[in-house]
Amino acid sequence: MNKYIPEKINRIEPYTPTENIYDVKLDANESYANLSWHLQKDIQKSIASIEFNRYPDPYAQKLCSKYAKCYGVNDYNVVAGNGSDELISLIINSFLNDGDKILTFTPDFSMYAFYAEERGAVNITLKKDENLQIDLKKAEKTISKENIRLVIFSNPCNPTGQGLKREKVLDFVKNVDCLVVVDEAYMDFWNESIIPEIENLPNVIILKTLSKDFGAAAVRIGFAVAQKDFIDAIKKVKSPFNVNSLSQAAGEIILDNHEIAAAIRIRIMAGKKRLEQKLSMLSKSSVILYKVIPTLTNFVLVESEKAGKIYDALLNQSVCVRNMGGFLRITAGSTKENSAFYKAFSAIVK
Ligand code: PMP
Repeated sequence: MNKYIPEKINRIEPYTPTENIYDVKLDANESYANLSWHLQKDIQKSIASIEFNRYPDPYAQKLCSKYAKCYGVNDYNVVAGNGSDELISLIINSFLNDGDKILTFTPDFSMYAFYAEERGAVNITLKKDENLQIDLKKAEKTISKENIRLVIFSNPCNPTGQGLKREKVLDFVKNVDCLVVVDEAYMDFWNESIIPEIENLPNVIILKTLSKDFGAAAVRIGFAVAQKDFIDAIKKVKSPFNVNSLSQAAGEIILDNHEIAAAIRIRIMAGKKRLEQKLSMLSKSSVILYKVIPTLTNFVLVESEKAGKIYDALLNQSVCVRNMGGFLRITAGSTKENSAFYKAFSAIVK
């Protein structure tokens, strides 16, 4: 044991992303569509004019301004991060004082608990109800009883694909006296965002990303949308040049062409629906029992006591999905990928 590594790091279970070694990779909720050739050309052109000897714009102002315009908010409502993952880490690590309590839910995006542990925060976790939804009344009670400083959840949720409608979230944030971080990484697939209300929400930070429907996970760009004082606070604590010039250049072009992402989103969701329907049909005659839980997102959710077995058998056929313990989360891919998954899956469960 290296005595210079603190015990709190030894205790942390590392997040283990899968490697890109599988023929069909449907485990990370990426878009199946690479950026179009035309966008890639524009990005290359823009990157060619970067002054590589200079630091990037520390506040990625052009990028944030374009994002603000896309979502109908002011430039001062937006700050960019090196993926929304960086922003989650930043917020949890810098908005909590020693000994502060954070409220998370299970199942939800695993990185919330990961960063809470890293921060050494007291993480209180509430189990979701039988419909995989947050019990908002229970959450409200817990927040006041436990004196919670920060609550964070994804909406719609990764990994459940379930969501809370705008009005419910707005009610909740008004009823609690703590910082509420609403991670809307998948919200463009559903359209119940609370972003339009941001100027009425003094205790909310919304997180967004270009990694899902925008098809730019490699670029590593996420955004926080909030009232100005929160954005200024995040700018204060972030590392000075957190979004590099290449990513800024790519992100600006992607946002200039945001209607392309909108069109792809429709195709992803149509493919997802077809896969859900086919799997539901198949479940009626399968030997291994499973249930398809309809989602609002770009992934399919399958519940089965044999999830682990199915997962291993899929991996044997070089098909990678996400095993969530009792559930399989399958990212909707291209028609070809979805068919390959379906073929492998049906051979396993029939
Ligand atoms: N939030 C949620 C709910 C996610 O599922 C993910 C990606 N798995 C992220 C945040 C992180 O996304 P990014 O690529 O922007 O870091």
